[in-house]
Amino acid sequence: MPEGDTVLQTANRLDTALAGRVLTHSDLRVPRLATADLTGRTVLDVTSRGKHLLTRIEGGLTLHSHLRMDGAWRIYAPGERWRGGPAHQIRAVLANAEHTAVGYRLPVLELLRTRDEEKAVGHLGPDLLGPDWNAETALRNLLTDPARPLGEALLDQRNLAGIGNIYKAELCFLARATPWLPIGDLAAPTAARLVTTAKQLLEANRDRPMRTTTSAAPRGYGANERLWVYGRTNRPCLRCGTPIRTADQDARPTYWCPRCQSGPTH
Ligand SMILES: [Zn+2]
Repeated sequence: MPEGDTVLQTANRLDTALAGRVLTHSDLRVPRLATADLTGRTVLDVTSRGKHLLTRIEGGLTLHSHLRMDGAWRIYAPGERWRGGPAHQIRAVLANAEHTAVGYRLPVLELLRTRDEEKAVGHLGPDLLGPDWNAETALRNLLTDPARPLGEALLDQRNLAGIGNIYKAELCFLARATPWLPIGDLAAPTAARLVTTAKQLLEANRDRPMRTTTSAAPRGYGANERLWVYGRTNRPCLRCGTPIRTADQDARPTYWCPRCQSGPTH
């Protein structure tokens, strides 16, 4: 699943390619929108809210899309070959004189009145990369259900928006707690620090081409690795050398160091 920073980068690229320009072609390949034609309208802006993309279009319309697991928006120059996947995976094409944006494998694609955007994204908690970010609200949301496993609570976009599977694993490592620890068992300062760290990591990576969570590590740690635990099954923990373990949580793989992440912390 794309992380909030990936979605923000996608929104920025789409905004650069589309905003302020008149659509010369539009093709929305989902049954409900098959007859919708946006040609002749100007794209006002493209923003992200958590992992949702909102393309605002002249006339009070918003094209709402979500990348879920493997969706993507690609931008092409006129005449350039489209390489984002086979044609049957294309869900949306928005073109102006200079750029063509093609949306692949979008599980969510709907056209809303801009004034109704909140119905689509209003359930989200504070967006780690959004203007509405509020650490106290995010922390309060996370702790609403103290028995909930830490990893699940972090992934629930209603608590705070923007954390995907990678940041989830990395944040649990940095909090020195397993993804299964009931979140209410975290000491209050640790829980608060977790929210601060999430914000710092996503901010630090918002413009980086390669995501990293180890750049603030003490010298010698993680120097050659971008991530602490994610995807590092059986490789030595960068902090203590213990082999990293993996198991499914909520049907998706998660990773942790059994030594560094051994339980409730101070
Ligand atoms: Zn370790």
